[in-house]
Amino acid sequence: MRGGPAFEVLFNINTYLKKKGLRDKFELTFFAPMEKPGQKMGDKALLMMDKMFKSMDIHKQVGSKIVAFESDGIVFENGRKILSDLTMFISAGTGHTILSSSDLPLSEAGFVVTNEYNEVEGFEGIYAIGDSASLMGAKWRAKQGHVAEVMAKNVAYGIAMHIQNIDSKRSYMGQLNILCMMDTGNGAAFVYRSEKGGKMIPLPIIGHWMKKAWGVYCKYSKLGKIPRIPGM
Ligand SMILES: Cc1cc2nc3c(=O)[nH]c(=O)nc-3n(C[C@H](O)[C@H](O)[C@H](O)COP(=O)(O)OP(=O)(O)OC[C@H]3O[C@@H](n4cnc5c(N)ncnc54)[C@H](O)[C@@H]3O)c2cc1C
Repeated sequence: MRGGPAFEVLFNINTYLKKKGLRDKFELTFFAPMEKPGQKMGDKALLMMDKMFKSMDIHKQVGSKIVAFESDGIVFENGRKILSDLTMFISAGTGHTILSSSDLPLSEAGFVVTNEYNEVEGFEGIYAIGDSASLMGAKWRAKQGHVAEVMAKNVAYGIAMHIQNIDSKRSYMGQLNILCMMDTGNGAAFVYRSEKGGKMIPLPIIGHWMKKAWGVYCKYSKLGKIPRIPGM
């Protein structure tokens, strides 16, 4: 499963129902097969998530495999069934079928195996970046948009150097982190995880507008309509 976006949808539904004055008519339950979903964000963040669930009256069903999705709910290995009018689930990713029909070396999940410079070893001049590449690194690593951008820049650099016969490459390994603004519809939680540990900082009200502003900045700066802020 891809946890971050699932949390965001759940928190936004809670805010939406509250705004409509209908929250007490609905029961919201977060479910996941693993014992500690969201652990990639770090232990402190996990505690904070629990606090957020409690303050929003969101129930939790974790630590038991999902056996079936049925039209009226979700069945778990421990025999429990959550009755549901609306079920949202983001499955764990697998690689694109283009990759599985290629001769490229793939991970078990079907992503292209590369070295830290995103080169596909044994395939001269072939690189894999972003979500299609099998990500190396610590257990908490996560595929993220900014990591895909770092990989793209590194590969462009590597190709430019190669053409000029200069032996210089850039690795993405030193730039792995989780950086996320988890929108709740009426605020956000800033999540950061690196090799030094993780943190989650609640940003009521302003966090929501920061995320919206980032979306506008990102779109228009990429389209070349406004200048990019150096380093961002
Ligand atoms: C629900 C969700 C929420 C996320 N939230 C965040 C977040 O808050 N922060 C963050 O940093 N990351 C987030 N991510 C991760 C981030 O979106 C990805 O890591 C990033 O987009 C990867 O970039 P990419 O260019 O490798 O792939 P993509 O952005 O997926 O781009 C691949 C492109 O290839 C196109 N394509 C596919 N097949 C073909 C084909 N046959 N021919 C031509 N084109 C094709 C697709 O349409 C797509 O445009 C999220 C991911 C998901 C799924």
